Amino acid sequence: MNRSTPNISAEKIRRTSGFQGGIREKEELRKHTSFRIGGPADLFIIPENGNDLIELLKSLTEENVPYLILGGGSNLLVSDRGVRGVVIQVGPGLSDFKFRRDSLVSESGVRFSRLARSAAERGLSGLEFAAGIPGTVGGAVVMNAGCGGGDISQVVTRVRTFKPGSGIKDWTKKDCQFKYRSSRFRGTGEIVLEVEFKLSPGSPPEIKERMEKILAPRKQTLPLKYPNAGSIFKNPPGDYAGRLIEAAGLKGERIGGAQISKKHANIIINRSTASSKDVEQLITLAQKKVREIFSINLDLEVEIWK
Ligand SMILES: Cc1cc2nc3c(=O)[nH]c(=O)nc-3n(C[C@H](O)[C@H](O)[C@H](O)COP(=O)(O)OP(=O)(O)OC[C@H]3O[C@@H](n4cnc5c(N)ncnc54)[C@H](O)[C@@H]3O)c2cc1C
Repeated sequence: MNRSTPNISAEKIRRTSGFQGGIREKEELRKHTSFRIGGPADLFIIPENGNDLIELLKSLTEENVPYLILGGGSNLLVSDRGVRGVVIQVGPGLSDFKFRRDSLVSESGVRFSRLARSAAERGLSGLEFAAGIPGTVGGAVVMNAGCGGGDISQVVTRVRTFKPGSGIKDWTKKDCQFKYRSSRFRGTGEIVLEVEFKLSPGSPPEIKERMEKILAPRKQTLPLKYPNAGSIFKNPPGDYAGRLIEAAGLKGERIGGAQISKKHANIIINRSTASSKDVEQLITLAQKKVREIFSINLDLEVEIWK
């Protein structure tokens, strides 16, 4: 990301793209991340709908203005210095979904857990794993979010994206290149607009019961009292990042306002007013110790904006 403030203003954006949505200057990103960490974005933009988003993206690209896409902010560590350029929040403006027999088409700004609950009420099974996953449908596709043996790749049939210069594209599940906590949309500049799911009919009470079975242990094992961003590291093949960090003696380790959770060692919590530096130092410490003791490199699951 270009660190210098680009020459762009709310007024210019409205003039060049006919933008309808909300534009805020110097918006603190901590208000929009589950970690409650992150400094200001020069411009924080909330498109009103898909077309608004597309016209905005075209215009920012023409003007050479750097931008980042924010979903629910639940997998992000944002620097205290914030972000130079534009942050686009894909959320409230793209929040429609429609059921069609056993399929479901959702815009990318819909809360993933809300979608899972609506499918359950409708008697459609397949999204039970998503009930406790924060964030949006778009973020879940990008990250191939999953839990308890299920992940979004198992139920996606089509993803619609937009990328300036390439236009709107539909991707089949195979094209999406889903991998463990990753997809082709991670870092390729394609913005997820819409996702189609194939679900199977079931009885609502049974679907809800399965959901509760997945949710219940999470309430015991996740440090839900404190702001966090879920798992910091991906699990290395055949092992668990949390087990390795705990075995390295780092459970409960604290730097400034950040702490490696005593409940779950692969989660860092913001105990009070943790800075992004505090969290980054804990990340570096965990990676160093685990490498020294087990010769294993821990790769980040969380994304860092700095
Ligand atoms: C308490 C807690 C529990 C969690 N549990 C789980 C879990 O069980 N399983 C799991 O997989 N994850 C879990 N997570 C992590 C996180 O919720 C998921 O990764 C989630 O899918 C991220 O979605 P988001 O909308 O918040 O994405 P963000 O954090 O906003 O963004 C993540 C990435 O996706 C990109 N992005 C977001 N929306 C779009 C879009 N429309 N188009 C293109 N790019 C986009 C962003 O630019 C960024 O690169 C947890 C997090 C928390 C805080």
